[in-house]
Amino acid sequence: MKKKIAIISGITGQDGAYLAQLLSRENYTIVGLTRSSHNFSTKNFKYLDIKAEILIEECDLLDFSSIIKVLLKYQPDEFYNLAAQSSVGISFEQPIGTINYNTQSVLNILESVRLLQLETKIYQASSSEMFGQVKSLPVTESTPMHPLSPYAISKASGFWIGVNYRESYKVFCVNGILFNHESYLRSPNFFVKKVIRTSLEIKKGLRDELRVGNIDVKRDFGYAPDYVTAMWLSLQQNKADDYLICSGTSIYLRDIITYTMDYLKISKNKLVEDPTLFRPTEMEDMYGDNKKAKTVLGWEYDKSFFDVLEILINEEDKNFI
Ligand code: NAP
Repeated sequence: MKKKIAIISGITGQDGAYLAQLLSRENYTIVGLTRSSHNFSTKNFKYLDIKAEILIEECDLLDFSSIIKVLLKYQPDEFYNLAAQSSVGISFEQPIGTINYNTQSVLNILESVRLLQLETKIYQASSSEMFGQVKSLPVTESTPMHPLSPYAISKASGFWIGVNYRESYKVFCVNGILFNHESYLRSPNFFVKKVIRTSLEIKKGLRDELRVGNIDVKRDFGYAPDYVTAMWLSLQQNKADDYLICSGTSIYLRDIITYTMDYLKISKNKLVEDPTLFRPTEMEDMYGDNKKAKTVLGWEYDKSFFDVLEILINEEDKNFI
């Protein structure tokens, strides 16, 4: 049987690496897009021991012609659009760059596939942040959106571009609406990674404190390697649709810190709550309903986030440098 070809943008990121690992097990030809092949890092692939050859292409998703070239060269079966400025915090500092990149890139990919009349199935990395100020929980696929950050606005725009190309031009575009998902490969500026990493540094005498913003909010967290399975499953369907991918429950950020500090036997007086780090706007609680992904995609997920935390703390400790 002919090998399937998949393009992954943002392949150097957390999800890109786990997805490449999954597609390599499924025997795909994998093409990874990067903004800069000079700064391209193979660190995550080495960490995950990905044996398959990954074909790396430099492709600026803001440059329409680079996308056309790569699509014509590979005529992919699947295109996973994971590249984005993915930090809510950074989006408040760089609102224009975030909104420009995260929306224009989606439009360029969809318009290229439409103009070239390709059958490529597209996965768009949407985010639970799009829902923002919700009036009832759990969040479902039909919850109205009220984004609270430039990042959330950019992802909401990307989401609607995907829906519009699906409805207007029959382009196969799935929006995977993912809640926070964590792993050892998460960038260090994200909350869970920062808590674990800093706590280990405190334990090893390299740092004095863990400084955080508002931790009396609840969020829905999951495990990244399981969440990329849902991405892949969503493109194995005959019909494109939107799916919430989440654990279905929320936990307090404070409880994540308490669990980590207790696990590592660190005194809680190392925790500093700093109001200058509070976000301008924030929801108190947020969790989603994963029923549709479980029933339609056959996705399985039943991990408690405390079990995930234990995996992450041990992995970080084992690889600590
Ligand atoms: P990540 O680790 O931050 O990786 C994002 C990748 O995007 C980077 O490796 C980078 O690759 C590429 N990129 C392209 N343009 C960028 C820009 N202007 N600024 C920064 N990076 C840029 O993200 P992730 O956690 O794997 O998430 C994958 C996707 O899912 C993202 O679109 C994210 O917004 C979305 N998402 C993630 C979560 C989560 O909890 N992780 C939840 C919901 C949605 P190069 O530098 O090689 O080009």
